Amino acid sequence: KTNNFDVVVVGSGGGGFSAAIEAKQAGKKVAIIEKMPTVGGNTLISGGEMNAPGNWVQKKLGIKGDSVKSYYKDTMKGGDYLGDPKMVHILANNALGSAKWLRDDIHVKFINDQLFQFGGHSYKRALIPVGHTGQELVTKLDNKAKSLKIPIYTNTKAKSLIKRNGRIVGVKARYQDKKNVTFNAKKAVILTTGGFGSNVKMRTKYNKEYDKRYKSTDTAGTMGDGIVMAQNVGAKLTNMKYIQTYPIANPKTGMISLLADTRFDGAILVNQQGKRFVEELERRDVISKAILKQTGGYTYQIWNDKIDGISKTKAAHKAEYNELIKEGLLYKADTIDELAKDFKIDPATLKATIKKVNHYAKTGNDKDFHHRAGLVSLAKGPYYIEKAVPSVHHTMGGLVINEKTEVLNEKGKAIPGLYAAGELTGVIQGSNRLGGNAIADIITFGRIAGKTAGKL
Ligand code: ADP
Repeated sequence: KTNNFDVVVVGSGGGGFSAAIEAKQAGKKVAIIEKMPTVGGNTLISGGEMNAPGNWVQKKLGIKGDSVKSYYKDTMKGGDYLGDPKMVHILANNALGSAKWLRDDIHVKFINDQLFQFGGHSYKRALIPVGHTGQELVTKLDNKAKSLKIPIYTNTKAKSLIKRNGRIVGVKARYQDKKNVTFNAKKAVILTTGGFGSNVKMRTKYNKEYDKRYKSTDTAGTMGDGIVMAQNVGAKLTNMKYIQTYPIANPKTGMISLLADTRFDGAILVNQQGKRFVEELERRDVISKAILKQTGGYTYQIWNDKIDGISKTKAAHKAEYNELIKEGLLYKADTIDELAKDFKIDPATLKATIKKVNHYAKTGNDKDFHHRAGLVSLAKGPYYIEKAVPSVHHTMGGLVINEKTEVLNEKGKAIPGLYAAGELTGVIQGSNRLGGNAIADIITFGRIAGKTAGKL
């Protein structure tokens, strides 16, 4: 079967939807193809938070001083200066505009009186969608795509790119692993297939460390397909060895713990000995490595009701809360003694640790690990303790794109007809992506890809 379009978008995460919507609004005949039975990719199961310097919630909360420049600096530094400065500038300059687009054009609802400050950021600048997950984003993007009558071919896996006279002119795909389908693209193929966190073979090809000992927070579809397809037509890859683990994930399933987002509002991390060992707002790679060095390679995260009152994650992630309790990975306790007993931590040491935390909370000076937001008092229960391990979360490396999202070949020249945006690109996040930067990246560059294709 053959289908003819102007623009074919491969992958229906946040990047793919943004590209398809922009291209369609520019008057192109657009299709999205998605290999899974449902849309959304990792965007759907993510926390959905999005950095936007100078945003409206910062204004409402009286948070002053944030700027495009500060966000740019944090992102570059967070990725050890391996991001492409020109591309990171585009991200920083457009993040707020992307957030406003989601809010005003896509009708995404962001919580209007709460923000997250993820590790590595100088300010609380991440907007939180209602429900604290990517579901709000994907639902609204999907609604918009439907209202624009963009066809979405699910269960349709792109297998290879069609190249004719040096130009990418379409995609060969399989429907439900039964039928071959060809999608011709008169103007552009836009790859938005996400990273390769679920592909153990591909992970170890580029970095031996991340073998099957690590579970992944990613969906089963996160196999690096787009990177390989582009590579097969000459695309250059970069930063492939940089694979990010999310420090706080379920030790049994590898799933990200969104309940544990209390960490951004004062939850502490301790080891089996009951001692803190890292600044809780450090970069993900630093915290992950520190956790793996502790006894058993795991950590306990501890917080109280006061902290939950700030982050409100218990209400937002009820299902996860109940699941962790059921699995014996989370306990609620009234006293620190009980809390310690639940995981056989020495109560005296844990009490001493928490006493210090309370003191540092009062003085505003964490003398041990210099908590950048200031610690919060854990003097009053009830308390929560959750066991967690690092899990593969984001692959920073991927395709080299330019400011128009054209995919570049080994010689640095654009491959005609081929565009990419989102996690499969490797030029934005450097060696380490900061929290809240994936959504900002995929929406910003997804839209640029769609607009670029819209002008062809
Ligand atoms: P991003 O955040 O970059 O938008 P996501 O992980 O949210 O990435 O979305 C990527 C989407 O692409 C997922 O829904 C995934 O199932 C889909 N996908 C991956 N490989 C293919 C493929 N070969 N053909 C079609 N869809 C694909």
